[in-house]
Amino acid sequence: MLKKKIEKLLIGTNNKGKLKEIRDLLPKNIVTLSTAEFKLKSPKENGKSFKENSLIKSKYFSKKTNLMCLADDSGLEIDILGKNPGIYSARWGGRNSDFTKAIERVYRELKKKDKYWRNKKIKARFVCALSISYLSKKICCVIGKVEGIISHKPRGKNGFGYDPIFIPINKKKTFGEMKPTQKYKLDHRSKAFKKIKKFL
Ligand code: IMP
Repeated sequence: MLKKKIEKLLIGTNNKGKLKEIRDLLPKNIVTLSTAEFKLKSPKENGKSFKENSLIKSKYFSKKTNLMCLADDSGLEIDILGKNPGIYSARWGGRNSDFTKAIERVYRELKKKDKYWRNKKIKARFVCALSISYLSKKICCVIGKVEGIISHKPRGKNGFGYDPIFIPINKKKTFGEMKPTQKYKLDHRSKAFKKIKKFL
C-alpha cells in the first residue's frame, strides 16, 4: 500500500530566519502554515538536547493546532567554550533574540577563555534537530551537522543568527557572506532535511 504523503504542515518556529530557510527547503507541493498565523507563543525549551527541544516544540504546536508539525531546534557549538552556546544559542541574544548581542557574547567568552584565541583555529559546528509530530506522537526526529571555525570578526549580512561568524570547513566565506543557495548546499538544516525527506 502506498504511504500517504504529507500535504499540509505547520512550521513550529517563531524565528523568521528559520521559517524562511525551512520553507525554502521543503517540497513546493506541501502547504505550509506558520505559528505566527495562529498567534502562538513558543513553549519553554527545557530539554537537555537539541532533539528533546525539537520534539517539545513539534508536539506542543501540533497539540495547539491539531496539525502535523515540523519543528527545528538548532544552535552553534564552540568546542573551547564547552560546546556553548549550544542549546542556549537563542538565549545568548537576550530577551529580544538580538543576534548582534549574541555574537558579542561569543567574542567576549572566547577572550575570557583565551586572550590569544585569534591566533588559533576555533573549532565549531552548527547542529540542527528536525522533528515531525502529530499531537503527542513523534513521527520522526533527525540530526544534521556542519563543522567549521569561528571567524575573527563578523562578515556578511545574509542569513541570520551566528551566520556572520561561522566559516564552514574548507571554505573561506562565512555563511553570512554566502548566498542562501550556497549555504543550503552545506548547512546543518539541509543535512537534516535530507534525512527527513522520506517522511515528506
Ligand atoms: P532555537 O532553535 O529556536 O532555540 O534557536 C536556535 C538559535 O541558534 C537561533 O536563534 C540562532 O541564533 C542559532 N542558529 C540556528 N541555526 C542557525 C543558522 O543556520 N545560522 C545562524 N544561526 C543559527
